[in-house]
Amino acid sequence: MQGSKRAYIVILGSLMSGLGKGIVTSSIGKILQGRGLRAVPIKFDGYLNVDCGTMNPFRHGEVFVLDDGTECDMDFGTYERFLNVTLKGQNSITGGKIFKHVIEKERKGGYLGYDVQIVPHLTDEIKGWVRGVGETFNADVVLIEVGGTVGDLENGYFIEAMRQLSLDERVVFVQLTYVPALVTGEQKTKPSQHANRLIASLGIHPEIIICRIEGKLGPNERKKISMFCNVPEEAVIDDPNIATIYELPLLFEKNGLARILLNKLRMKAKRRDLKEWKGIVNRVKKPKKKITVGITGKYTRVKDSYISISEALVHAGASNNCDVEIRWIETSEIEDKGDLSELKGCDGIIVPGGFGARGTEGKIRCIQHAREKKIPYLGLCFGMQLAVVEWARNVKGLKGANSTEIDPKTPHPVIDLLPEQMKITEKGATMRLGGHDIEVKDGSKAHAVYGKKIIRERFRHRYEVNPEYISKLEGEGLVFSGKAPGREIMQIMELTNHPFFMASQFHPEFTSKLEEPNPLFREFVKACLK
Ligand code: GLN
Repeated sequence: MQGSKRAYIVILGSLMSGLGKGIVTSSIGKILQGRGLRAVPIKFDGYLNVDCGTMNPFRHGEVFVLDDGTECDMDFGTYERFLNVTLKGQNSITGGKIFKHVIEKERKGGYLGYDVQIVPHLTDEIKGWVRGVGETFNADVVLIEVGGTVGDLENGYFIEAMRQLSLDERVVFVQLTYVPALVTGEQKTKPSQHANRLIASLGIHPEIIICRIEGKLGPNERKKISMFCNVPEEAVIDDPNIATIYELPLLFEKNGLARILLNKLRMKAKRRDLKEWKGIVNRVKKPKKKITVGITGKYTRVKDSYISISEALVHAGASNNCDVEIRWIETSEIEDKGDLSELKGCDGIIVPGGFGARGTEGKIRCIQHAREKKIPYLGLCFGMQLAVVEWARNVKGLKGANSTEIDPKTPHPVIDLLPEQMKITEKGATMRLGGHDIEVKDGSKAHAVYGKKIIRERFRHRYEVNPEYISKLEGEGLVFSGKAPGREIMQIMELTNHPFFMASQFHPEFTSKLEEPNPLFREFVKACLK
């Protein structure tokens, strides 16, 4: 960027949730990046939780973990996957976090003499926070995604803070809206017009309207939105159904969004360059081969609870030129009926992260099947712990072996609480969280996969391989090939007598990017192709 000062783009959702605001925000960031600008996202969420760590993924979608250990909304995964950035807890503002901050400041006497109010005290803190993120990341553009929908009680004060920000800073407001079609195919713009008025009543004038729509917005409808919402026609941008979410930046660029934004922000930037991105998107759209991967899980009915895994498979698929079809396998059924027929035709099996006992015996059955039938296996966190349990029981003859999370009275606690977890009773942000280094064993498969000795991946767990059982478990093909430097925490296990059987105590899905697939996923998919 050439000398101009920092700008802010605020993305507001209107009419309803579920329009893919995170994907829109990420795509805007990508086209700005493609123009050589440093774009960094912030997400505001109105709930009073401080972070997402205590939320049920079944209700709220996946809990995404940042390198600094912040447990946040799954949109952060989308940002990192699109923008190739490593975000911090600072990028996530929740209602709980900002109120906590203000109340703690009040207790310390930070507002001595004043009655602390939503305006100006809370809104000032928000503005300060938003500017602070711009500073930390030395951003050219800060993208601010406002969670929820305009009109919600929860985000009103935040939107007010953004209005105030626009008095001092260069701010462009973007309205994301939905244009429904009747059975006759007729597109209806009236809801968007009303939503626009609602935003106007808050003193905000969106300069760009992004329309979530099935197909293409008709010329008359574009005219209507333009006229009633007070924006030029070219600033009414389509957000249609597409083959892959990663195509959206290309579509936005093609429809002139980057040019319009740069004009509005009065920023000069390079010519567009999304060539590499485009190449990968083409591979996602036109894969040469296809595999099926079975993923077991408790929340299989809500795909959002495993979104980072399915995206990591898209990335790994693109780099292997193949389409990865996911088959979600509900293991409580395998457990009840003992029927493994759902695994038929799976080229590989993943057991992802999880908590609690339900469905675990079914998962263990799937792992045994993968091990014995030499089907590629990838275990993620809980998926490694259960692979160790399966190995202990069926190979090492440790009858009744289990994790103490599942069976506190097991005769062979091969998986047990981390020592530092013993005294913890609070639930918020108390797991072993975030990025940690891993020492990879020379000559192991993990070494071949990652190509280096020290790697960094993200964790979210309370339990680990019980150090007392390590020597009993090793041998006959099992190798713990990744360890915490200087500590006895086992972080990768692999079987040497199997085409691909690898499991990690960390979550490799959290570091996978479209342009940089995670090596474990990439090699797993490669193994499934064989
Ligand atoms: N429940 C296990 C633990 O706490 C696994 C956690 C996970 O899979 N994220 O260690």
